[in-house]
Amino acid sequence: MAEVALTGVGKVYPDGTRAVTDLNLAIADGEFLVLVGPSGCGKTTALRMVAGLEEISEGEVTIGDRVVNRIPSRDRDVAMVFQSYALYPHLSVRDNIGFGLSLRKLPKAEIRAKVDRAAEILGLTDHLGRKPRNLSGGQRQRVAMGRAIVREPQAFLMDEPLSNLDAKLRVQMRAEIARIQRDLGVTTIYVTHDQTEAMTLGDRVAVMKKGELQQVAPPQELYDRPANLFVAGFIGSPAMNLLQGTLNADAENPGLAVGGQHLTLPREVLRDREGLRAYQGREVVVGIRPEDMEDAELAETADGARLRSTAELVEAMGSDVLVHFAVEAAQVVTEDTKELARDAGTDVLGSLDAPRTDMVARFSPRTRV
Ligand code: ATP
Repeated sequence: MAEVALTGVGKVYPDGTRAVTDLNLAIADGEFLVLVGPSGCGKTTALRMVAGLEEISEGEVTIGDRVVNRIPSRDRDVAMVFQSYALYPHLSVRDNIGFGLSLRKLPKAEIRAKVDRAAEILGLTDHLGRKPRNLSGGQRQRVAMGRAIVREPQAFLMDEPLSNLDAKLRVQMRAEIARIQRDLGVTTIYVTHDQTEAMTLGDRVAVMKKGELQQVAPPQELYDRPANLFVAGFIGSPAMNLLQGTLNADAENPGLAVGGQHLTLPREVLRDREGLRAYQGREVVVGIRPEDMEDAELAETADGARLRSTAELVEAMGSDVLVHFAVEAAQVVTEDTKELARDAGTDVLGSLDAPRTDMVARFSPRTRV
């Protein structure tokens, strides 16, 4: 196990495509770091540079106390787990897991013991004699994990390892990976485009966009204090509602003009009058998490600002009900508890309450529906 550090790392492919720009990340010994971002943001490229599968154009990658830029992949002491499990179809589960160790010519008894232990951790003991084609997707993914575990590497590097599994298995394996990583304490970098996976797995999550790191923070901090609009919109499902508004900080009733409506500002925000003045008369973006809106009957405070609109679409999701409504051009989604059945066409009334952050541009309102 080791710390992995990327310092000023950049990648320009031979055809001139810039995939990663000035990436700085320090992953602590034993930490689980998730790299997340939309397709093409450079996360796979970043991981492959750490793995030694892609040349590093700029900057430095260190694993433990070694700069590995010029060290070939096989000598970096890291284990990759890919989305395609890359198992050998003609080999048994036991031989697949032990393959790397056999190549290294470890004594047979030692290989056997290591494979047995990995199989036990992964719940594969009863399947060691089988061939990959006779396994389920989840079991195949476990075999791929097993191959990484037996190598006892300094770091696990995982590239979308769950994306070939169906939704239910994905959730199950996600918990499994979290457990295994915790038990083994191996430094892990995990790439995914799925923000739910990122939030549930990572000790910290690094959000990338167009080759650049946007923010790296523990999941809750990312959620509560997104560093910019991209992170605010990317993290959270359903996504944060982002509304354009104009701030009027000087008025007797300071607030925001949003979609032709006036929103009173939450008390906590009003306290920072100086901070507000900087935004006077300017266009700002109001971010409202869907789950921060609630039904008029359940609202804790009655004195907040209100957003009035009409429910356009109601989606019953079982535990939650999503209500879509439009505020001028913006589409807003609110998350309601299921006992509050809603019909499209009902009036929607929202009120701002406590702010989630200290930024003028973001509030966490309780919205009355
Ligand atoms: P995805 O989730 O779709 O895999 P990603 O975030 O992992 O995306 P990368 O695969 O790292 O993104 O690609 C980053 C950028 O680099 C993209 O614009 C991609 O087209 C480009 N790219 C990737 N591999 C190469 C290559 N071999 N040559 C040229 N450009 C490449």
